[in-house]
Amino acid sequence: MNNDKTTNVELKEIANLCKRRGFIFQSSEIYGGIGSVWDYGPLGVEMKKCVKDQWWKRMVYDRRDVEGLDAAILMNPDVWKASGHVGSFADLMVDCKECRKRFRIDKLKGKECPECSGGLTEPKSFNLMFKTQVGSVEGNAVDVYLRPETAQGIFVNFDNVQTSSRKKPPFGIAQIGKSFRNEITTGNFIFRSREFEQMELEFFVKPGEDEKWYDYWVNERLDWYTSLGVRKENLRLREHEKEELAHYAKRCHDVEYLFPMGWSEVEGIANRTDYDLKKHSELCESGGGLKYFDTATEERYHPYVIEPSAGVDRAFLVFLIDAYRTEMVKDRKRVYLSLDKRLAPIKAAVLPLLKKNPEIVEMAHKLRDDISGNYRVVYDDTAAIGKLYRRQDEIGTPYCVTVDVDSLSDGMVTVRERDTMEQERIDASKLKGYMRENLGL
Ligand code: ATP
Repeated sequence: MNNDKTTNVELKEIANLCKRRGFIFQSSEIYGGIGSVWDYGPLGVEMKKCVKDQWWKRMVYDRRDVEGLDAAILMNPDVWKASGHVGSFADLMVDCKECRKRFRIDKLKGKECPECSGGLTEPKSFNLMFKTQVGSVEGNAVDVYLRPETAQGIFVNFDNVQTSSRKKPPFGIAQIGKSFRNEITTGNFIFRSREFEQMELEFFVKPGEDEKWYDYWVNERLDWYTSLGVRKENLRLREHEKEELAHYAKRCHDVEYLFPMGWSEVEGIANRTDYDLKKHSELCESGGGLKYFDTATEERYHPYVIEPSAGVDRAFLVFLIDAYRTEMVKDRKRVYLSLDKRLAPIKAAVLPLLKKNPEIVEMAHKLRDDISGNYRVVYDDTAAIGKLYRRQDEIGTPYCVTVDVDSLSDGMVTVRERDTMEQERIDASKLKGYMRENLGL
């Protein structure tokens, strides 16, 4: 549920909360960390899974025309030659002559260093792909790349998936997985990382039908965010100018979110035309197979591709920021995450009112075991009830269930809803059904 109790939260506050509560930690922190690489903690891994599950549900399970795929991160290096990444997946960079910091030209506002006002070098091109080697014999090793996008794994498997699943255009292949980019301008917490996850759909259509499907996917993708509770006024669509378009794209819209640092991209929806399938067909021997043969018309063609490409980590950040709320309750500040229940890392916390009463503790433990199953439910007795509520509010737990002395005789427990703080007494044996009904899962 979203209400008007919005807060202009700083990214620093979100990062603090993430660390304190166990959503996200800096990678290899005890060694001083490594730039722009992040680890997801106990709550982060749950919430990230919920984000991916909601994407998969909408893009695969709810549809008849999409199949899933999980391709490898390492690929034959020729893939990246064909796709254009070896030649042109690069940012134009400048260095500050004074403080030596490096900046992307397209992100710079003026002609001097934004940090120290020093002079800048001439722009240089910098390839963003991480290179490594396959093969153990010295001199025999082959350079390969960590994939900078998941999309190419889909394109090279177009024929495998199409023939094994007997799909006809229009149809799509969906994939969620890690991608790697040696980003130069970093910062802004998990917004731009060097190792991140993408959720990509490549939707194959008959040439000529691409414009229609493009419009469809732009709207469909924007709707995904609002259907999961992100406020409409914090989202917008921005169409790329001609000069800004990637080498493969005919059109592209970004879904942008009003982050604390300003409007920035969360997802791109591009019309990639038949560029990738054609390039792979040209450059590899068996690439001719990347055409679709329409048995009805006896036509053989390279389908056009509409690609909605979202970042798991950026979507995660959007959901967190948009859910962040503060309010004064009886002269005390209450912080809570008004996350859509489907995205909350913990769905319910079972709390004993008196942890010294073994019967209450036992009932609470049993109740936790009873209602958990397909999602995470926790038991907590490490503080007084007020503090336990605040802890769960701050991590977005939709329901707190309290077991008290009366529960032992009447079998009823108190269920407190996170946003409204309203409480109701419910028969403990009905709690599982209550959760199922109210979580929207
Ligand atoms: P940007 O202009 O911000 O670098 P991009 O246009 O290069 O992004 P795409 O190549 O369109 O990004 O990638 C699709 C999506 O993948 C992005 O919308 C974003 O959500 C996610 N993404 C891309 N790069 C990163 C990154 N370094 N860290 C986290 N997410 C990323």
